[in-house]
Amino acid sequence: MIGRMKVAVAQLVGGIAPGSSSSVGSGAESGARFPYTRPLFLLLSPEEAQRAADHSSRPIVIPGQGRKGLLPWGAGYAEVINAGKSPRNEDQAAREVVIVESRNPTNSTRAKEGSGFTFHYWALFDGHAGTGAAIMASRLLHLHICEQLRDIVNILQDYDVPPPICLSSDTEAVTAEGAKSSAHQGDWEPPTDSESRFLLEKEISHEYLVIGAIENAFKQMDIQIERERNSSSILGGCCALAVIYLLGKFYVANAGDSRAILIRNGDIIPLSNEFTPESERQRLQYLGCLQPHLLGNEFTHLEFPRRIQHREIGRKMLFRDYSMTGWAYKTIEEDDLKFPLVYGEGKKARVMATIGVTRGLGDHDLKVHCSNIHIKPFLSCMPEVKVYDMKKYEHGADDVIVMGTDGLWDVVSDREVADAVTRILSSSEPDEPNRFTLAAQDLVMKSRGILKDHGWRLSNDRLGSGDDISVFVIPLYGHT
Ligand code: MG
Repeated sequence: MIGRMKVAVAQLVGGIAPGSSSSVGSGAESGARFPYTRPLFLLLSPEEAQRAADHSSRPIVIPGQGRKGLLPWGAGYAEVINAGKSPRNEDQAAREVVIVESRNPTNSTRAKEGSGFTFHYWALFDGHAGTGAAIMASRLLHLHICEQLRDIVNILQDYDVPPPICLSSDTEAVTAEGAKSSAHQGDWEPPTDSESRFLLEKEISHEYLVIGAIENAFKQMDIQIERERNSSSILGGCCALAVIYLLGKFYVANAGDSRAILIRNGDIIPLSNEFTPESERQRLQYLGCLQPHLLGNEFTHLEFPRRIQHREIGRKMLFRDYSMTGWAYKTIEEDDLKFPLVYGEGKKARVMATIGVTRGLGDHDLKVHCSNIHIKPFLSCMPEVKVYDMKKYEHGADDVIVMGTDGLWDVVSDREVADAVTRILSSSEPDEPNRFTLAAQDLVMKSRGILKDHGWRLSNDRLGSGDDISVFVIPLYGHT
């Protein structure tokens, strides 16, 4: 495994095409570095992949029967293609078990078994305007996370030692003054005299080091997509949701509108927030206000309850800017006739009338239709990372994390998801190996619905999801 990771990391850094994936599945685009396939862990034959791509029957795809151990912890997974909104399934999924080795093992960490640690990883990528960014991220994001974590292996393993402010190539700690101190973690001593109190290093917890590593990994992934988008024929972008289990804690990193919840004894604990034009209105408006040239003389950073007519100039109208959550009146000016930077409600809300999510990877070439206005400056690749400490709670056999793309959450509520999962799991024996796959399958079935009168309908006759739907169900019992 370590050898395999070394090769993979070398490919990541050196930009060498990983050829092993290109032959799996069907629909591969010859010549592309990351050809289109379904997730590799599904091990679909070309015939199975072709059936999975049928927009009219929309068969639910699960990992092959009898292939136990394909997913970390025996997690369940299921997916279904959209009802025709895009030619391909633009969702992607990844699962990995990654061994992180220290870049510079110290004597103390070298003495420990393996001088590194393992993290478990599950991720969903919801692509838009093409499949390339989602596929590339599904192959590489865990390697970027591994690379970032390598800097802090020694620190995480020596639990009582604060991290150095910066690392030199030979792991010497460098103080704020630039003077080098001892490299050995155990030699660190806080300054004691009155003058040096101004030089005290900020105490940074191990948890925030891991969060920073994950955040920086997302940033590096986005930079790589930007750098290689032309040579690798990568169009579009993707939302990214990653669940990482590391040293007893879950780190849930979300950039976009996919979501994760934890179900514990029937209770729902949200593990992520969605990032949409509505939820990020103030951040977007602030940027537009600070850098109006990004609005291209076409958009206004202000929000109004409706579009303003030319004849309303001089009248008073409700508005709000980046600093406001409520509404107040202002006198309408010529500039207010421009199109609002954030416009629309719910799933119809858009940034610059173009995109309905505000965080994710890729989209470096996205422009407002028929203009030269770039939208990427308003999009963030930075995930929000939430932490769940497994050691603080007892978990039963039916306690799980559910990860889903918006195809799931758009049509079923958290409560409906929790009730469905609990019902499926409680009706099976705790040692039944496929019970989490059955739960994932049931959630996809519930949100897709059944074909009725030429449309997909849920059991209560509401419209089913016409989007791609991907779901992981990750068991918690026995993993602390
Ligand atoms: Mg979607």
